[in-house]
Amino acid sequence: VSGYRWQCANCVAVYKLDQVRYTCPRCPRGDGRLSLLIDYSRVPGKPPAGDEFSMWRYADLLPAGRLARPSLPVGWTPLYRPERLAERLGIAELYVKNETVNPTGSLKDRASALVTAAALEAGERVVVTASTGNAAAALAAMSAASGLRCVVVVPAVTPVAKLRQIAAYGAHLVRVDGDYDTAVDLSRAAAERWGWYCRNTAVNPYTAEGKKTAALEIAEQLGWQAPDTVVVPAGDGNILTGLSRGFADAYALGWIERLPRLIGVQSAAAPALWLAWRTGRDSTAEARSTADSINVGRPQDQTRAVAAVRATGGAFILVSDAELAKAAAVLARETGVLAEPASAAPLAALPRLLAERIVDPLGQVVLVCTGRGLKTVAGPAEAIPAVEPTLEAVSARLAANGWRVP
Ligand SMILES: [Zn+2]
Repeated sequence: VSGYRWQCANCVAVYKLDQVRYTCPRCPRGDGRLSLLIDYSRVPGKPPAGDEFSMWRYADLLPAGRLARPSLPVGWTPLYRPERLAERLGIAELYVKNETVNPTGSLKDRASALVTAAALEAGERVVVTASTGNAAAALAAMSAASGLRCVVVVPAVTPVAKLRQIAAYGAHLVRVDGDYDTAVDLSRAAAERWGWYCRNTAVNPYTAEGKKTAALEIAEQLGWQAPDTVVVPAGDGNILTGLSRGFADAYALGWIERLPRLIGVQSAAAPALWLAWRTGRDSTAEARSTADSINVGRPQDQTRAVAAVRATGGAFILVSDAELAKAAAVLARETGVLAEPASAAPLAALPRLLAERIVDPLGQVVLVCTGRGLKTVAGPAEAIPAVEPTLEAVSARLAANGWRVP
């Protein structure tokens, strides 16, 4: 496609789209992540106005999907104001970008849809990915919608509901005896041995470009305006990179007049990105968080993510696993959004971001809610007792919850 090139984020070497598959060949150890370089003079100067209400609304800014794409619609998720929560927190304009309503329940659908489009256009037959669960489910569903064979490699601790979801889409599920970082290495080795197309987050350059559509939607849904602050959960850092790419596109085209501050929230039990941000050096850390989606020891996109946060005057912040679980419960009870604990990270961090004046309560604040909680709440139904079909039993059940009805 003319007008589009890959550029290495480390050494700034430029490549044609079909010249490289994953990372920069000139940088050692595959460390050079590739970002899309767009000749904006070849892109329509006005924001999209058609009735395509999906991530493909921004097809002019995407490096794949013109010739082929998965038929399953992804994106154009709601951005809305959770008023009860905003009032209690004292924030003038609080928004939730509800990515849990994507087809497989997470923001990862955007990356997997664009990777699948690229795979289809290149004539690939088999796609493979490592994942903590959500990206795998997303790739499995996009493959199902497109007739591709899909292999996923997930860590041993992946929640049962995510495993069942992946298998339901017909993907070949490999649950590996190891962590996410192990799954990353194994999937990459399998892709090399058998010639499969590898979706691995950040290593595959289409992942961040797919995720950038969430930023374009946020800007458009605010009337082509950038919010003051966007807060997101961070594991690999690829969502931060993706959002920064989307806002950068909108800014370059004059669709928004400034860039929002990006804030990445990590679990204190898996703080590698936070560490990289604090020390200014690529970092690894032990990953022992129960929030599986952000339990990453060796973040795959740390250089770009940290740079994106720094460039916007943002920050990284840590919260405890207990705070994540509590925030997920609050989010469900006060907004009606059932998020997995990792996805409640922005809300968990908010009280401290306000107290430390990193976030201005008078500004526009967007919390990106990345993944659906149904995937992590699963357990045996017997854990919730069944009551007799009588009003007395109902009354007793409510009383056990602390609510006495007359
Ligand atoms: Zn390079």
